[in-house]
Amino acid sequence: MTAKLINGKDLAASIRRQLAQRVQALVDRGHRPGLAVVLVGEDPASQVYVRNKIKACSDTGITSIEHRLPADTSQEALLELIARLNDDETVDGILVQLPVPDHINPERIIEAIDPLKDVDGFHPNNIGNLVIGREGFLPCTPYGVMKMIESTGYDLTGKHAVIVGRSNIVGKPQTLMLLAKNATVTVVHSRTRDLAAMTRQADVLVAAVGKAKLIGADMVKPGAMVLDVGINRDENGALCGDVDTEAVSRVAGWISPVPGGVGPMTIAMLLTNTVEAVERRLLK
Ligand code: NAP
Repeated sequence: MTAKLINGKDLAASIRRQLAQRVQALVDRGHRPGLAVVLVGEDPASQVYVRNKIKACSDTGITSIEHRLPADTSQEALLELIARLNDDETVDGILVQLPVPDHINPERIIEAIDPLKDVDGFHPNNIGNLVIGREGFLPCTPYGVMKMIESTGYDLTGKHAVIVGRSNIVGKPQTLMLLAKNATVTVVHSRTRDLAAMTRQADVLVAAVGKAKLIGADMVKPGAMVLDVGINRDENGALCGDVDTEAVSRVAGWISPVPGGVGPMTIAMLLTNTVEAVERRLLK
C-alpha cells in the first residue's frame, strides 16, 4: 500500500485565498484586520516562525504589527505592551511567540492577553471554552490537524484516535477536538508502558512529540491515517517529523508530510482566528 498524501501546504494556500476574500469584505466595511506579533529575544527558530507568520499576513491582506524586543526585556515591560495592545482598536489578534526568555513567566503573559484577541488559543478562558464545547479560539496546530482530517472526508465518528504527546499547545487540545468529533481518544506520552502496542490500535494517529522518526512502520495499523506534527532535524540536518515517513507510507492509508504538512496549516489557522476575531466583533 502507498499512503495518500495529506498536503498541508496546498490546503493552507486554499484557506489563505478564502481568507483574503473575507479580509476584503471587512476592509469594505471599514476595518482591516490587524495582528500584533511580539518576539522577545533572538531565538533562531522563533525568528523563522515570526517571519513566516508576517509573510502569510501580508499575502492575506491582514496588517501585521511587529514588536521585536531585546532578550533582557522585563516581564513588567512586556505586560505593559500587552495591556496597550489589548486597548488598541487596530489590533484584533495578539501573538507572543513562545518560548519567552527564562526570566519571563509564559503563563503570566498568556493570561494578560485579552481572551477576545487570543488568536493562539492559549488563554485559560479559551482552553476552558474548548473543554466545555463553547465558542472560543482553538489552538492553531491541533485546529490545523482537524482541518487536514476534514479535507480528506474521513468520518471520525467511532474511530480510535491515538495522540502521542500531551502538551498544552498540541496533545491536550487535540484530544478535546477529536473527542468533539466523536472519536474514541487515547493519549500516550513518555511514561506510557508499551507505546507501539497503543499506536498500533490507532485508526487515526497524531504524533506530537519532538523526536525524529520515532514512529516506525511497525507502530502503525495498516490503512491508518497518520498526522505528523513534529518538527525535527534528522541525522543529516534535514527537516523531518516524528514519523518515519518513507517507511510508514507503505503501511498507512493517509499521511501528512514534514515539511509541507501541519506547519503551514498552523499559520493558516492563526490567520483564520484573526479574521474570526474581527468578524465576531463586527458582524455578530
Ligand atoms: P512538548 O511540549 O515537548 O511535548 C512533547 C510530548 O511528547 C510530551 O507530552 C512528552 O511526554 C511526549 N514524549 C516525549 N518523548 C516521548 C516518547 N519517547 N514516547 C512518547 N511520548 C513522548 O512538545 P510540543 O510543543 O507538543 O511539540 C511537539 C512537536 O511538535 C515538536 O517537534 C514541535 O516542534 C512540534 N510542533 C510543531 C508545530 C507545527 O506548527 N507544525 C507546532 C507546535 C509544535 P511527557 O508529557 O511525559 O513529557
